[in-house]
Amino acid sequence: MGSPAVTEHDPARVGTVLNRLARDSRRAANITHVESVPARRGQPAAWPEWADPLLVSRLRAAGIEQPWTHQVEAARAAHEGRGVVLATGTASGKSVGYLLPVLTRLLAEPSSRAIYLAPTKALANDQLRSVRSLMLTGVRASTYDGDTPGPEREWVRAHATFVLTNPDMLHRGILPAHRRWAPFLRGLRFVIVDECHGYRGVFGAHVAQILRRLRRVCARYGTRPVFVLASATVADPGLSASRLTGVDVDVVDADASPRGPMDFALYEPPLLGVRAGRPSTPADGTEVGGPDVGGPDVDGAGVDGAGAPVPHGENDAPVRRAATAESADLLADLVAEGVRTLVFVRSRRAAEVVAAAARRGLGEAAPELVERVAAYRAGYLPEERRSLEGRLRTGELLGVAATSALELGVDISGLDATVIAGFPGTLASLWQQAGRAGRTGQAALAVLVARDDPLDTYLVHHPEAVFGRPIEASVFDPDNPYVLMPHLECAASELPLTEDDLELFGPGARAAVDDLVRRGRLRRRPTGWFWTQRHRPDVDIRGVGGPPVRIVETATGRLLGTVDAATSHSTVHAGAVYLHQGASFIVNELDLDDAVAFVDAATPDWTTVAREHTDIRVVESTRSARFADVEIHLGTVEVTNQVIAFQRRRLTTGEVLGQEPLDLPPRQLRTRAVWYTVTDELLAAAQIEPADVPGAVHAAEHAAIGLLPLFATCDRWDIGGVSTDLHPDTGRTSVFVYDGHAGGAGFAERGFLRVANWLRATRDAVAACECPAGCPSCVQSPKCGNGNEPLEKAAAVRLLDAVLAAVDGDPADPPSPRRE
Ligand SMILES: [Zn+2]
Ligand SMILES: [Zn+2]
Repeated sequence: MGSPAVTEHDPARVGTVLNRLARDSRRAANITHVESVPARRGQPAAWPEWADPLLVSRLRAAGIEQPWTHQVEAARAAHEGRGVVLATGTASGKSVGYLLPVLTRLLAEPSSRAIYLAPTKALANDQLRSVRSLMLTGVRASTYDGDTPGPEREWVRAHATFVLTNPDMLHRGILPAHRRWAPFLRGLRFVIVDECHGYRGVFGAHVAQILRRLRRVCARYGTRPVFVLASATVADPGLSASRLTGVDVDVVDADASPRGPMDFALYEPPLLGVRAGRPSTPADGTEVGGPDVGGPDVDGAGVDGAGAPVPHGENDAPVRRAATAESADLLADLVAEGVRTLVFVRSRRAAEVVAAAARRGLGEAAPELVERVAAYRAGYLPEERRSLEGRLRTGELLGVAATSALELGVDISGLDATVIAGFPGTLASLWQQAGRAGRTGQAALAVLVARDDPLDTYLVHHPEAVFGRPIEASVFDPDNPYVLMPHLECAASELPLTEDDLELFGPGARAAVDDLVRRGRLRRRPTGWFWTQRHRPDVDIRGVGGPPVRIVETATGRLLGTVDAATSHSTVHAGAVYLHQGASFIVNELDLDDAVAFVDAATPDWTTVAREHTDIRVVESTRSARFADVEIHLGTVEVTNQVIAFQRRRLTTGEVLGQEPLDLPPRQLRTRAVWYTVTDELLAAAQIEPADVPGAVHAAEHAAIGLLPLFATCDRWDIGGVSTDLHPDTGRTSVFVYDGHAGGAGFAERGFLRVANWLRATRDAVAACECPAGCPSCVQSPKCGNGNEPLEKAAAVRLLDAVLAAVDGDPADPPSPRRE
């Protein structure tokens, strides 16, 4: 393999890297906090006497001399037939906890079977490799996913005893064909759900329903498999696990594995220049900004000071040096030190930008290392991804900039440092990403680099919010009718639904089935509900609303990758700049009918930002809390969003070069929202002039969207907002924050239940920002479809103070939730 040998690792060096970085005075000023996470001693246990001796000897040969107590405890529960969730840290050996009982059973009982579910194909492949490396001829393990060739699928059904797959394949491939899988399902003893904290939001709700379908089909074949779940450390893992599976499980969450010490630094890039100045006068007060999961990343600009004109953001706001630019520098420096480093970024585009910038940086200092840095992200073709994973495993790659695609992916133990460019949305993800660093028992370094964003700003200045609180539970809502109904259709198409089945699918199942009968989707017969259509129901469980849009190079016909349908309007509209592996392209046509975007290679010195228009209509308020001059509501809304234009902005300064209209159809979304309304009296008392109200609510709304992820396991791209000085449905000044997925994902509900805490953190984040009149760290939003106008930062703080004074605590579990 023509690459140079891996630079020899010196563990003592890692511990001093942070010190050396901090000696650089510019960097020292940016480090807001260093947490020394102490080392932990391991608590070994004896191998269980019931464990298969061959399996034990192979595990020992693989270097596991003794198991840790948490592994044995989880294994015992599963072995005794009880469902269990093992919620311990990254690299705590969760797989031993489930492989011990599962493989022991498969070896002891040739007719028994097990399914392993991973959220990604990469993770399933990785597990397959480790199971096969045990060389147990009595266990026939195989993956079964979209990449499995036809003839091999038949072999898997007939002969495999351990099938590694994903929820998508269970949903589309296995459950609809359960008759062909009958022998397998008759022997099914265990279902392993790995990385189960990753099943959140709408996707989590879909997976919960798929697992209910699996349980129902298994029951028809006379089996009740034991669920064994593995999770990152989260609050209340038992509750999440039983919501996901519908069955009660034991909880094992005392991590007994040893861990080396870790220095965890919080890092805030500097403001590049502060300009005084007021934003221009408001035109209207309606906020815009649909959810845009993984959309373009304003960090991409990578601006830097020295000698250049002072860069500024929208409406002359000061900007911080981009987290991606800062992380790219850290990556280059760490790689130059021989420190194996992984940078986690928030968007596909940022992965490209960071890898390219680090390579440029190394080009001057250490040209021989340039080829050992790469990008890795979702949207690459499978061959590309596999090749990168291989090079990372062997150590041929020293530095990688990755999206969270890798967070769930391959086993890449042997890293020394992680740089996390932007809070990854949840504390569980943050710790999982940080936990990637640290070879067994050795010192590791993690750096969270704040993005120019209110949540990140809040966190780097409130270390207690990172290090001093329990990790949030996964939020998802299995009862979302938009999720439940299509799965009831799927279930009925698999086997007619009976009365007894309804309980399995939750409290909303009865009403949903009646509705499906009225709409002619199901037919009621004496023996149950039957699926009426010839084709199978078409359900997209990744919740992206339609097939992904393919990105095709016009000149060559080459398929570069894909983007989600939901984000395609704002990311690959005609004229948009698209990045792939460091190369840039301009979209010349977005064909919505065929779901394809044609692009041409180009290297413009601008980036593009979509302008959107959003309206919101209240369908129903289902819960509310009323106070003097303030009402808080949770309910159903209809959001209409249209991408109407895009701006070109200079890459280096963010300067707006021009705007062009777009002709894209509006899209509608019925979802859940939390909103608050205030009276004119409250606004007057808070000394907010009528002309400043639109800017005040717009700013308060942006910041609230930015801070909600602190209370719900979402990120700001999963939610949207609308604010207005007078909403026709409420008759008052109103701020809405809505779930960006049809039917809702539970995020708005969390906001409602924790509203006082949420708005308090929002107020604090805005008030603490040192900018004069609003910047991306407080009230500007990277996805504002209104170009961040109008925004009134000071008035927003007064508004939030007044709201908080009126609201006396969270309505979580109010005595009697009011329906209207
Ligand atoms: Zn600010
Ligand atoms: Zn906005």
